[in-house]
Amino acid sequence: MLNQETAKKWLELFIEQLLENKAYLSELDTAIGDGDHGNNLARGANALAEVLQTKEFETLTDLLKTTGMTLVSKVGGASGPLLGSAFISMAKASQDSDDLATVLEAGLEGIQKRGKAAAGEKTMVDEWIPVVDAVKANKLTVALIDEILEKTKNMKATKGRASYLGDRSIGHIDPGAMSSNYLFKTMIEAGV
Ligand code: ADP
Ligand code: MG
Ligand code: MG
Repeated sequence: MLNQETAKKWLELFIEQLLENKAYLSELDTAIGDGDHGNNLARGANALAEVLQTKEFETLTDLLKTTGMTLVSKVGGASGPLLGSAFISMAKASQDSDDLATVLEAGLEGIQKRGKAAAGEKTMVDEWIPVVDAVKANKLTVALIDEILEKTKNMKATKGRASYLGDRSIGHIDPGAMSSNYLFKTMIEAGV
């Protein structure tokens, strides 16, 4: 269930995953980008951890909005504004709904509005689109989240930095899809 308590737990677990996998995320980004994805997100994760420890939130909306603004301002790179937009859009949607599918779908719209990526372009939206569909159908599992990630491997990047590589981007997992994979697995773990 999506509420302030489960969302906070979710964010804490996500922060943990990002910090634990910082080197791996940057390694994935070294293969098809500029090697900074893990470092970018770790900067955001540390800033967010500090905010969660020091600030009291009145509502779920407040928590999601502050998370989004922290990610936009601290992560940098392409992924910061994109993931930050997702949380800011989720915050807006959470004013009217506590339905997880509705809120996640708004998050996906936020990413696509900002980054203009469609399905199959080898970006984080290739993790988000099938996950949102699975949540709608009430069939999201950890195994499915991993299967979705694997599919980014054989995609050719046509958005973001990896697109400069053309065909050479094929055969590598997309770093942004990997970090969103952690986001959705920790969502399940937190019982959201
Ligand atoms: P940068 O490429 O600026 O160094 P990061 O390394 O932090 O930024 O993030 C790279 C990730 O951002 C990619 O792996 C991809 O998933 C995601 N990304 C890049 N461009 C877009 C876009 N237009 N829409 C959605 N996601 C994108
Ligand atoms: Mg990068
Ligand atoms: Mg960069």
